[in-house]
Amino acid sequence: MPDRHARICAVITEETTQSARAAIRKTASFADIIEVRLDYLRDFDFADLNSLRALLEDKPLPAIITCRSINEGGQQFVDEETRLKLLVEGARSLADYCDIEAASYNAAAKLSPDLSRLLVSYHNFDETPEDVDAICERISELPAAIHKIATRANTITDSISIFRLLDKARAENRQLIAIAIGEPGLITRIIGPARGSFLTYASIEKGRESAPGQLTFAQLQNVYGARRLSRDTAITGIVGRPVAHSASPAMHNRAFSALGLDFVYLPFDVDDVQQFVSRFARPQSREIDWRLRGFSVTIPHKTTVIACLDNLDQTAIDAGAVNTVLIEREKLIGYNTDVEGAIAPLKKIIALDAISCGVIGAGGAARAVVCGLRKSGARVSVFARDAERARALAESFDVAVFPLESLESSDMEIIINATPAGMSGHNEEESPAPRSAFRAKPVAYDLVYNPLETRFLKEAKEEGCLTISGLEMLIEQAALQFELWTGQKPPVDLMRTAALEKLTADSQRDSISPPLP
Ligand code: NAP
Repeated sequence: MPDRHARICAVITEETTQSARAAIRKTASFADIIEVRLDYLRDFDFADLNSLRALLEDKPLPAIITCRSINEGGQQFVDEETRLKLLVEGARSLADYCDIEAASYNAAAKLSPDLSRLLVSYHNFDETPEDVDAICERISELPAAIHKIATRANTITDSISIFRLLDKARAENRQLIAIAIGEPGLITRIIGPARGSFLTYASIEKGRESAPGQLTFAQLQNVYGARRLSRDTAITGIVGRPVAHSASPAMHNRAFSALGLDFVYLPFDVDDVQQFVSRFARPQSREIDWRLRGFSVTIPHKTTVIACLDNLDQTAIDAGAVNTVLIEREKLIGYNTDVEGAIAPLKKIIALDAISCGVIGAGGAARAVVCGLRKSGARVSVFARDAERARALAESFDVAVFPLESLESSDMEIIINATPAGMSGHNEEESPAPRSAFRAKPVAYDLVYNPLETRFLKEAKEEGCLTISGLEMLIEQAALQFELWTGQKPPVDLMRTAALEKLTADSQRDSISPPLP
């Protein structure tokens, strides 16, 4: 099959004919093809082809029509004969393709569909069955222009089965759409077309998705640059759980694109990091033939990943955690850019040697910042509510530890919040330090970056402190990762803009719609 740019299919999931028509017109400026989900329409006469004519008569793009049966994700019951007749006749005269479930193939075949306009699909919203290859073989024997497999990914390893199907279809010159549904399957939606999928689906805006894990057109194209990707594109990404809301893809992909690098940064929703390393990453054992250059590591895998690597850089050894992996000459090397990233914003405003720093918290972020501060010669005191976790830090880095309550009376020059207190969506109203703790302390630094101004920073500013947001650390640690993977300095200001756009978009969305349970 000749290589060509990825097709992005905008899915129309409107409830009225009027709004569906408006959405179809809107897609002309960005999508390559549309899928109209007729089963979402509440004012539609499924028995009258004129209803479809009114919807599609001036469509600006090729259109797939779909009217899903309830057991394959349909939104309403439509009598089977009426449904299939509408799809078959609609594709003959008005649409470019109709999508009919493999289970309904025989009934549809009796209506003599135009096979060059038929798309045969199989959906499984519970799992990616072990015999998905056999299922794909079976449906591929049903004469049609395109076949489609969409199965739930319960773990990212289910994506491997999907990529295998695409490889096989490509080798046999068959048109296949293959997608893993849900967050662990996100990578199949982004790089699927570059690996041969006939198209990838996108919603026209957030909240209009027709399936879990479906990205918006803006995410696919503006964040991931889906149309420019090929099998040769170098792959990076973030390994963690959850990762769907990470700002890192926005930052790294913006930087790759600005420098014209054929790289992409993907969200790897990983539950078992050892499996990920062996099946996706390690050149000797991976089951995907791709140019994986390395990856970021985040919660909860920063320490468990260590056992899966070949070498560790000294900072990763000192910190006891890895947030970056580089794949070089068949070896996986672990780095920790959080350490330098955490203190770089401080170094820009103050020489850290012999400065007294109070770090609140004793978790992973505290470890990185304490490690960096100690390397820079700062005097560090840790203020934590859990004495045992604090003692572990004291042993690793030779620092003093105190109960949280004693922060107020301490005489630190810099106070750093390394706890999640004040984070959006969790405990935004909280601050781990009383307002009085900021008096006579020159600098306050919050590692939390969402919101940009936490209660901790607001009160510190009101008490006259110079304040630094966690966004600065986010950008610095990402810039160092970028350099490790590409050997180039990233455009840091563009990374900042991308992160700010992502955080602003998320906060606006959160303020208008409650998060899903
Ligand atoms: P973690 O490993 O779970 O540790 C959190 C620490 O904060 C623990 O010591 C915990 O104490 C303490 N803590 C939690 N809530 C508290 C409260 N209300 N008052 C006082 N102490 C509290 O988490 P982490 O990985 O260190 O991350 C901490 C935060 O750092 C994250 O939420 C994130 O916002 C930020 N962070 C930012 C960046 C960046 O790039 N800017 C990078 C990494 C992390 P207990 O043990 O008693 O629960």
